[in-house]
Amino acid sequence: MQAPGVALTFDDNRIDNWYKFLPVLDSAGVRATFYISNYNRLKPEQIKKLTAIQQHGHEIAFHTTNHYNMNDYVYKAKHTVDDLMRCEVEAGLKMMNKDGFYPSTFAYPYGAHNGLFDKLLMRYFKSVRALNGTQDYTKSVVPTTKNDVLYGLGIDRSSKRSDGDINTILESAKDNNTCAVFVAHDINSPNKFSVDLGRLLQIIRFVKNHGMKFYTIAEISD
Ligand SMILES: [Zn+2]
Repeated sequence: MQAPGVALTFDDNRIDNWYKFLPVLDSAGVRATFYISNYNRLKPEQIKKLTAIQQHGHEIAFHTTNHYNMNDYVYKAKHTVDDLMRCEVEAGLKMMNKDGFYPSTFAYPYGAHNGLFDKLLMRYFKSVRALNGTQDYTKSVVPTTKNDVLYGLGIDRSSKRSDGDINTILESAKDNNTCAVFVAHDINSPNKFSVDLGRLLQIIRFVKNHGMKFYTIAEISD
């Protein structure tokens, strides 16, 4: 049986901020998943940093070309789903592929998804990640293999989750031999979409103290 664990995921394109905390992640043996959006806006030195993050064993995943709400893009702005896949998936993937990044998992901007998108995206990715906006944290504690649709639990300051909530979820993963899926953006920045370093260390300590492990999303999607 696989060890219980945690999948830490970070969204968007906060490369400089993540890179700064790479030594913290490395020293704790964390392997995280970074879902990248707006890749076309990255500067060459940021692409170098992202390459370093990948070389340190982290997963570089995909979070669309322009970070549009996909439901709005199709149902409000009246683009076709073919446009959506071409512009918001294929175009961004192509740019990343050129630089040596081959994302195999996907996260929805704003968590905005539906069954049709899930199905279409499975042609490109092993799994898709939406957000768990409910109080039912069990949606975010999943088997350690074969996931296709995931619901990450927000741990940023904006999520208003308490340290006690986080502990409950970690306990649940430990007791059930499952994997807790967390979502953050920045690490320890003034931005409200940022996870405090203290909370990150709380998660790291728990994983270490209970013989658990860190999984990338690609690993729990196989
Ligand atoms: Zn995002």
